[in-house]
Amino acid sequence: MATTPDISVAARARYEPVIGLEVHVQLLTATKIFCSCSTRFGNPPNTNVCPVCLGLPGALPVLNRKAVEFAVLAAAALNCRIHETSIFARKNYFYPDLPKGYQISQYDKPLAEFGGIEIKTAGGVKKIGITRLHLEEDAGKSLHEGFPDSAETTAIDLNRSGVPLIEIVSEPDISSPDEAHEYLTRLKEIILYTGVSDCNMEEGSLRCDANVSVRPRGQKEFGTKTEVKNVNSFRFIREALQYEIGRHIGVLESGGVITQETRLYNANEGKTYGMRSKEQAHDYRYFPEPDLLPLVVDAKWKAEILRNLPELPEARRQRMVAEYGVTDYDAGVLTASRALADQFEAAAKAAKNPKRVANLVQGELMGRLKAKGLEIEQSPISMQGVAASADLVESGAISGKMLKDLYDLCFERGKDFPAVYEEAGRPEQSRDTSALEKTIDEVIAANPKQLEQYRAGKTTLIGFFVGQVMKASKGQANPQLVNELLTKKLGG
Ligand code: ADP
Ligand code: MG
Ligand code: ZN
Repeated sequence: MATTPDISVAARARYEPVIGLEVHVQLLTATKIFCSCSTRFGNPPNTNVCPVCLGLPGALPVLNRKAVEFAVLAAAALNCRIHETSIFARKNYFYPDLPKGYQISQYDKPLAEFGGIEIKTAGGVKKIGITRLHLEEDAGKSLHEGFPDSAETTAIDLNRSGVPLIEIVSEPDISSPDEAHEYLTRLKEIILYTGVSDCNMEEGSLRCDANVSVRPRGQKEFGTKTEVKNVNSFRFIREALQYEIGRHIGVLESGGVITQETRLYNANEGKTYGMRSKEQAHDYRYFPEPDLLPLVVDAKWKAEILRNLPELPEARRQRMVAEYGVTDYDAGVLTASRALADQFEAAAKAAKNPKRVANLVQGELMGRLKAKGLEIEQSPISMQGVAASADLVESGAISGKMLKDLYDLCFERGKDFPAVYEEAGRPEQSRDTSALEKTIDEVIAANPKQLEQYRAGKTTLIGFFVGQVMKASKGQANPQLVNELLTKKLGG
């Protein structure tokens, strides 16, 4: 839990937070960005290495085409302008996990710029600008744990050295920790849809550095920022920002100044700690990488790459609302992952009535999941199961009531619909029509004018009568059966 510094509400209200996020995303290539070593996570330390990614003298980098294609896809999905020519640059610094003494990155000519995504905030939809998206290589990893004398020992694993990353830098457009959380959620969702990364935060495939400052409301100039590094969950980023904003306001209110520095978040304490001051630490002496040609993504190659750009989450949500009549909320749940949305749409399209599949997901599945505290991915009933059940209702084989009971059984037994339907002995709704006939007689008696018109030849009125009977039966009657019986009775 974040222990937010104790600042009065009035003091807080005088300041406006300014936040910009730098997100590193590992690309899902099979091999590294400048050599053919594997990118596999979890292999024994220092087994995915070669002279290039070990930084041995004389080894030459060769750019991985797939990494460029993935970066271009991500850039397009984030609405960036993709430059035809971009330049790799050396970012020089010393660190034990960086054997070359520099990281190959992009600096003044990045792959892509001027992008942005939309997020939902309390005040409506807001655009968060993306300053740039560039390609770079990852560094190795220092291991401080797992040794008998771990306090003394640090080991280096260079398997990660040279793994391809994109860095996505946002504009300082984010105004609260909640907005930061929402931005990251949407960003991750979009990247996942493009398929260029698994965005697995535990494995470090998505990492975020959060820059934050505060300024008195109404002031144009930004305040001095601090950067919180290496926070490993979106929730912790929100907490770290909450803490940091409170700390900034506290310092300023007591007449102090914020020093520009990098800080670390301790999630157990809910506090940030100063790590290094930025002024002294950061002069990277960037210069163009002499061992690599400028990266050229010409129009033809770009068009080829962009053919693999899938429909993105927001567009898909809007289409699903229009096509299946689901609510905005449910469209959000159904598009939470591309796989789930694909499953739903495949099932819906294969079913006799796609809208009924959507209705069952909304009306019967979501509530049961919520009651059990399950995510939709954990549902005992698969999308195909929902579709199978929808077809049975559609054909009149089972009633709505029977479906509800079968769904209850599915959740009780943790089994999918087709299995439970078999176990229950493929039940069928009774064709006992006496109750239904009674309802039909009542409906006919209550509408003598329509009956007269029907018998005078206006047979399209059958639709009206079916509607009335369905309404009287509260949607429980089997429409096909209603139709049959009505035709008989209306005929006189
Ligand atoms: P640096 O050179 O220190 O890395 P950049 O200008 O590259 O700074 O910005 C890094 C990130 O910090 C960007 O996401 C940017 O939006 C954000 N940022 C810049 N200035 C501020 C500020 N005063 N307050 C909050 N965020 C900021
Ligand atoms: Mg920066
Ligand atoms: Zn290598």
